[in-house]
Amino acid sequence: MEFEPSYCRYCGHELEEKHSEGRERPYCPGCDRIIWQNADPVAATVLRRGEEILFVKRGIEPGKGEWSLPAGFLEHSEEPTHAAVRELEEETGLKLKTEDIEIFESMALERFPGQKLVAFIFSADMEKAEGEISAGDDAEEARFWTLEELEASDEKLRKHFVSAMREVLKNKT
Ligand SMILES: [Zn+2]
Repeated sequence: MEFEPSYCRYCGHELEEKHSEGRERPYCPGCDRIIWQNADPVAATVLRRGEEILFVKRGIEPGKGEWSLPAGFLEHSEEPTHAAVRELEEETGLKLKTEDIEIFESMALERFPGQKLVAFIFSADMEKAEGEISAGDDAEEARFWTLEELEASDEKLRKHFVSAMREVLKNKT
């Protein structure tokens, strides 16, 4: 998968590099402009049930078969809290109110080479959630895991989410 642009999105000219504001940036000689690159925002939720956290198994590429927090990209103009509860419901069937989640961490990460993301990670308690767990949308399975189960498992999982989970459980006690 290719995330670094090679051609100008405005005029189609092949991009070059130009030094600007402290770093090399993609530059289009066709329309004489710097092509600014920004990370894509993602919202994720760490949903606790006692010592367990809800994870979903991705049913589609990229990352098919990987266990991840319920998460997804923000729509244009969407509040991060709304994106987090929307993705949770789409992927697991569970409903939370935006006031029942709180920001836990934000981080910049690169999931695939060149794919820059900024993640807003929220935490919430299962007691606040309504509905039954049923995997949906691009998730093929949704279930709670203990940290020990996850660490002992040979399933594919996203390391940065496991470290987030460890922190949430630690802060809870
Ligand atoms: Zn151009």
